Amino acid sequence: MVDLHVHCEYSIDAEGSVEDYIRVAIERGVSHICFTTHCDLDPQRRHHDGRIRLHGRIVDVTDRWLDHYVSDVRKAARRFDDAGITVLCGLEVGYVPGIEHLIEEFISSEDLDFVLGGIHTLEGIDIVSPREAPDYFSRRKLADLARVYFEYLDAAVESGLFDCIAHIDIYKRCGLAYYGEQIRVAHRGLVEPVLEKMVKQGTGLELNSGGLRKGLPTIYPEHEIVHIARTLGIARIAMGSDAHHPEDTALGLGICNKVALEAGFTDVHFWQERIPRELSLKKE
Ligand SMILES: [Zn+2]
Ligand SMILES: [Zn+2]
Repeated sequence: MVDLHVHCEYSIDAEGSVEDYIRVAIERGVSHICFTTHCDLDPQRRHHDGRIRLHGRIVDVTDRWLDHYVSDVRKAARRFDDAGITVLCGLEVGYVPGIEHLIEEFISSEDLDFVLGGIHTLEGIDIVSPREAPDYFSRRKLADLARVYFEYLDAAVESGLFDCIAHIDIYKRCGLAYYGEQIRVAHRGLVEPVLEKMVKQGTGLELNSGGLRKGLPTIYPEHEIVHIARTLGIARIAMGSDAHHPEDTALGLGICNKVALEAGFTDVHFWQERIPRELSLKKE
């Protein structure tokens, strides 16, 4: 089992040290864990999202912290060398169009294993935040929300910056309560061209169990999207719990595994030094 999406205390909305997560991961039979601290570089949202916790202090994402983070994860990886777990170091980068140069400069400044890209904000509003999202939704029909979201996503894939796309239908997290069940099929006609672009670019698709802990009926993405991805020829899938607390490590990954197998995937991937490597799903 791989868990390629966990947030340790470097993310200001998470708690627990790198070691705390690794210990739980070992207990739960995780073979590969990747830390993916939030990295939000959008200057428009600097005061909301662009902060990191570094050794108990809150610093700006543009301050010097990445080398400390990478070194903390690498040291922990060495300490658990004989424990049968591979510890990887990555980032979850929030994408908005127009900041590609900032992202590129940032992610190339350290040797990372994995760069996960995700859309969290649209037009300067955090659509994953129960505080901010309802006001944004109130001004948009579902079709408009979906159109803007998939435009952002298309640009994220086009940028070629990301190894894998996180929680591809994250808009349902707050949107399901607002728009109702129809949001679960809002991807139809919009996700296909993006998945086709991911096939061309070799971008991975993440199966993320985090929404299950927020009361959603399914993982990200909807099972239908996983099936479409398989049909269109997505070659690489990743899996992640999106844990923000050590106790959530690996939770729900059995469900991701089941959904992947049902869609016909036979392998799951992890990334080391940005190079994808496959593991057989059947052996999970
Ligand atoms: Zn995310
Ligand atoms: Zn995350």
